[in-house]
Amino acid sequence: MTDKKVRVRFAPSPTGGLHLGGVRTVLFNYLFAKKHKGDFVLRIEDTDQTRYVEGAEEYILDCLKWCGLEPDESPVAGGQYAPYRQSERKALYREYAERLVMQGHAYYAFDTAEELDKNRKEIPNFQYGQAYRDSLRNSLSLPQHEVDALLDAGTPHVIRIKMPADETISFHDMIRGHVSFETNQVDDKVLLKADGMPTYHLAVVVDDYLMKISHAFRGEEWLPSAPVHLLLWDYLGWKADMPQWAHLPLILKPDGHGKLSKRDGARLGFPVYAMSWFDAKTGELTPGFRELGFLPEAFLNLLATLGWNDGTDQEIFTLDELIEKFSIERVNKAGAKFDFEKAKWFNAEWIKRSDATTLLPHVKTILAEKNINITDDQRLITLIDLIKDRCVLLPDFYQQLGYFFEEPKSYDLASVKPKWNDQKGDFFKEYIEKLANIEAIQPELEEPAFKAFAEEKGMKIGDVMMPFRIMLVGSKFGPHVFDIAASLGKQETINRITKGLVAFSA
Ligand code: GLU
Repeated sequence: MTDKKVRVRFAPSPTGGLHLGGVRTVLFNYLFAKKHKGDFVLRIEDTDQTRYVEGAEEYILDCLKWCGLEPDESPVAGGQYAPYRQSERKALYREYAERLVMQGHAYYAFDTAEELDKNRKEIPNFQYGQAYRDSLRNSLSLPQHEVDALLDAGTPHVIRIKMPADETISFHDMIRGHVSFETNQVDDKVLLKADGMPTYHLAVVVDDYLMKISHAFRGEEWLPSAPVHLLLWDYLGWKADMPQWAHLPLILKPDGHGKLSKRDGARLGFPVYAMSWFDAKTGELTPGFRELGFLPEAFLNLLATLGWNDGTDQEIFTLDELIEKFSIERVNKAGAKFDFEKAKWFNAEWIKRSDATTLLPHVKTILAEKNINITDDQRLITLIDLIKDRCVLLPDFYQQLGYFFEEPKSYDLASVKPKWNDQKGDFFKEYIEKLANIEAIQPELEEPAFKAFAEEKGMKIGDVMMPFRIMLVGSKFGPHVFDIAASLGKQETINRITKGLVAFSA
């Protein structure tokens, strides 16, 4: 660690929904910042206007809020290094690009899109770089007076980095160790576009420098860009301030073959985005973990374990524990396979471990979506405690609790009817009378009373208990039957037995 103040950033481009890998990048940045009492910055990298998507920035902000990973500095929160949206910083990048041209590390290129397309078509593996730059239209190949004339005439142009020949560039990655690149294999990337906007390569270096970023953690897909960035840090004279980098491993498809994509989610039936994303252009809705019924705590916990562990068998971590235990050096360099069953396991564990009061608002929302509006929070809290161990995803609370608030819409008749007879019918009719005479149902008294009554009537307890449950719930699941009856209350229990009798005898 350097003694620089820790400042990390998440720097998404607002182009659509946030892949779970993106949220894991946020999480690792956040954990590192909090562990080292540093700052976590959100910077919106929106310099590619052609990829800009309306609503994507709000989505990112909502997503960080849902996860509880709120940035210390952002376009909304502001901060000492504002603005945090690169499009609003447009004016400041040109100066650095021009400085690179002056130093001979970059050059103006006047080639039109059509000319470049032609080259790409005609020359196999065409790259704008050492092999061809002399035969293209740029300030390295054209005489100075022609370059000046083109510039004076306002001819559209870009500024490209001039990749040096035959150099090996290397850096120390906090996860991968020593990483090196051959400059001959890298093309002359555009730094400043014809519209005056910087490309990602220039903007990321300038902003990481100006915003005093100490550590830059980003996805492995950015590793091929690292040589360009390394050279820019060097050429701009900022090498001593370069952040320490770590490139996070990919999240892989369940079978381990390749990067997990949005399409894999659709194909295999699980979400890949943190929250649902609606693409207004295509009308496509991509489902999210939040909407499927994941708790944010569980979502973060599962993301933390994709590529990281604390060296023990511990799997369940609170955010505070993660902050305490996280270290970037313990992140694996190998890709992490995504396993949706395991993801659900995390959610079930978090539901089990969360207390009913924490779950209450989530459960109320789930029930309200089914038009069940609860005013008696205390009753709901008791019920949540009774059934939360049976829930994997939040919507399961409706299945497990709905029948406490609305009578069964249908019955599992296949389980009852084959063995239903008049004797059972008579038993329940008499049982209704017995219930009518008690004050209120108390599970610890009612269960023995029911059993004694069944015995008196010569019935096997199992033969009547299962139909009783189906009368109350509609199906064969749920907690203890007498807990259900007690919560429903005497009158509602009698009503449901009466209705059940009609349905079973029909
Ligand atoms: N704007 C890049 C992205 O969309 C950021 C990469 C980086 O963190 O350097 O992911």
